[in-house]
Amino acid sequence: MSALRELYQEVILDHNKSPRNFRTMADADRRVEGYNPLCGDHYTIYLKMDGDLITDVSFEGKGCAISKASASVMSSIVKGRSKAEAELLFEKFHHLVTGELDTTDHIENLGKLAAFSGVSEFPARVKCATLPWHTLHAALESEAAVVSTE
Ligand code: ZN
Repeated sequence: MSALRELYQEVILDHNKSPRNFRTMADADRRVEGYNPLCGDHYTIYLKMDGDLITDVSFEGKGCAISKASASVMSSIVKGRSKAEAELLFEKFHHLVTGELDTTDHIENLGKLAAFSGVSEFPARVKCATLPWHTLHAALESEAAVVSTE
């Protein structure tokens, strides 16, 4: 088993079993729902913002292991980052899971996000992995919205 495949197994199993920041946020500044009808993934992402800074992020909902692990890893990674940094990570993550990473994406700086590179072998699961990020993107753009991958 390659190191990246081991990381994939470890991160996805761990974050699916014990998702981080998995809670509702009553006093959130932003609340956006995201659906992936193809798989049945459905999450709500909550954000607390201070200007352009994401000071807190949480999520709730249901879905497959990949979508839940992706939401969990995303929530841990974007907390404390600016909107621009989060959008840049989404762009790199999107390249990663669609197999379009190039050398300017610096996979070594992606941390746990690198675990999702295996998703590129399963095109049907790309929407599962990116749903939390699309929802985050919508939440960064507006206070309340509903997004769908279809
Ligand atoms: Zn899914």
